[in-house]
Amino acid sequence: MTATQQGNIPAAPATSPPMIRAEGVTKRFGAVEVLKGIDLTVAPGEVACLLGPSGSGKSTFLRCINHLERIDGGQLWVDGDLVGYRRHRDRLYELKAREVARRRRDIGMVFQRFNLFPHLTALGNVIEAPVRVLGTPRDRARAEAIRLLERVGLAEKADSYPGQLSGGQQQRVAIARALAMHPKLMLFDEPTSALDPELVGDVLDVMKGLAADGMTMVVVTHEMGFAREVADTVAFLDGGVVVETGPPGEVLGDPKHERTRAFLDKVL
Ligand code: ADP
Ligand code: MG
Repeated sequence: MTATQQGNIPAAPATSPPMIRAEGVTKRFGAVEVLKGIDLTVAPGEVACLLGPSGSGKSTFLRCINHLERIDGGQLWVDGDLVGYRRHRDRLYELKAREVARRRRDIGMVFQRFNLFPHLTALGNVIEAPVRVLGTPRDRARAEAIRLLERVGLAEKADSYPGQLSGGQQQRVAIARALAMHPKLMLFDEPTSALDPELVGDVLDVMKGLAADGMTMVVVTHEMGFAREVADTVAFLDGGVVVETGPPGEVLGDPKHERTRAFLDKVL
């Protein structure tokens, strides 16, 4: 094909930006560089699982995506916006705290520890942020919270307090609470690591349902079965870099790097 003919090919339709794009992201705590140049792209609707040994920087990276840590180098975009900055007339300005808070509303985060408000019922926990932060009328927030609790299989626990729920139930309330803000992205940091083994399945099932509904998710997990079944992309982190990334069949089934292989030998 000649150059002229190529020139006549219509431009590809504009695709939506990645939900997350990290290029050479670095982060140090004091003298210690914890992230040493993270590269990762997550498309809208994709599920990315982050694996890696303790201390490899997985939580720190999630915290950077969620504006909880400031990066020192490289670039990090969420949904097309450079994290920490806004663009105005081709110049970048640092975000003010209020603007950071506004962007953080679009990102749901679920931690290993559920951190529910102990003095509020399951329903109370789910409606708290929509009512207080978004100003959603209480009865509308309540109706939606009931739907969300149904979605995580806990409609009958709406009036229970966290202390009356199992760890797995509390974690599902925490997921419902995050969803109540209508996030465009959900981050999970070892959501099942603190749970008794028999409670893990219900939480993973809720996460599978979210993935099937098209939620963009970044999941730090040691649950290899979940990663294999649900992830579109698996990224193996070690020493603050992404050592290897690709579809689960490749990274888990046929790892290219010795460090990935050594890690998988230990956890599988
Ligand atoms: P992972 O989640 O993969 O286990 P982390 O992101 O929690 O790893 O931690 C990576 C490294 O950064 C660890 O060595 C940890 O001790 C260090 N680190 C994390 N947070 C801080 C902090 N706030 N101050 C100092 N060091 C930290
Ligand atoms: Mg961690």
